[in-house]
Amino acid sequence: MHPQDLPNVLSGVPMPLVLIGANERILTINSAAAEIFGTKLEGRPYHAMLRQPEVLETIERTWRSGKTETAQYLGAAGSRQTTYRVACAPIALEAGPGILLSFEDITHVEESSQIRRDFVANVSHELRTPLTALIGFIETLRGPAKNDEAARERFLGIMEKETHRMTRLVKDLLSLSRVESEERMRPGDPVDLGNCLASARQALRPQAEDAGVAVVIEGIDGPVIVPGDADQLQQVFTNLFENAIKYGGRNRTVTVRVSRQEMEPMLRGPAARVDVIDEGEGIDPIHIPRLTERFYRVDSHRSREMGGTGLGLAIVKHIVNRHRGRLKIASQEGQGTTFSVILPAARG
Ligand code: ADP
Repeated sequence: MHPQDLPNVLSGVPMPLVLIGANERILTINSAAAEIFGTKLEGRPYHAMLRQPEVLETIERTWRSGKTETAQYLGAAGSRQTTYRVACAPIALEAGPGILLSFEDITHVEESSQIRRDFVANVSHELRTPLTALIGFIETLRGPAKNDEAARERFLGIMEKETHRMTRLVKDLLSLSRVESEERMRPGDPVDLGNCLASARQALRPQAEDAGVAVVIEGIDGPVIVPGDADQLQQVFTNLFENAIKYGGRNRTVTVRVSRQEMEPMLRGPAARVDVIDEGEGIDPIHIPRLTERFYRVDSHRSREMGGTGLGLAIVKHIVNRHRGRLKIASQEGQGTTFSVILPAARG
């Protein structure tokens, strides 16, 4: 290979590369690096291009130690923050020692560890609140309220409610982690949606009765079969019915409408669609894209009061994804919300 071929060879490497020569000037950069730093940088001192102190210090260290050192470089690709791990490798060049910088995009690694940290912080916070309440009540029951029969009953009632909420939280966390771990395996048992919907409604009968809500299922005139996991699909509808009952308002109706489409454009094939329609206050459109995030709530106080864990819709979303389906949320403030689950169906 002719030395003049080097820039062309480096430009064939998808990773951004910058070669610094013995006189601390840039010898060559490949086209991936030019996308970050711009062109015509050859011959300029590297300090002018790489202004981040951590990277400059690491290059200095590499000159001194003669060993590969690494640093982080924060870049911006459009509006997106990108994080690179920069390896500074000493290279023996014809004219003396040089350094080859290679930039590995680790944005996704950084993002997923941030998500994990947020998740742990959220779970801890969710558990700390009821635990603090429990400790407070235990102390009160042992001390000032020791002989107060009425207070004892009331406190025990609250303690029971908080304990149930923690149990639900742990149960939801476990289902979420199970669904996530299975997400790549598409389930394929024949499931009759009519049965699933009826079982979900049955399981929530007590809540519906307490709230005076009627859950009306429409559009079933025979089996509606989809390939799926019956327990998980039942969980989807249980969560959606439960929300519609909770947030749809007392003494209202929740309408569950089932329909079939021979050609669903998004799924490019036959589909079964279930619309869960409530008559509640609706949801401000700014919240809709985030509702399926874990622990995202429009009104945290109200959700907690109602014993919500903030995980119901995250579980729904993952199960629907696992079935290669779609979840759509449409809402008119003041007029209610419709959650639609669209699932690929068997042909016929
Ligand atoms: P939660 O346990 O808080 O109900 P979910 O994940 O099931 O958690 O729902 C997230 C949030 O979405 C709720 O806190 C609520 O603010 C909102 N939400 C869900 N379903 C409805 C609905 N049918 N009408 C209005 N808001 C809803």
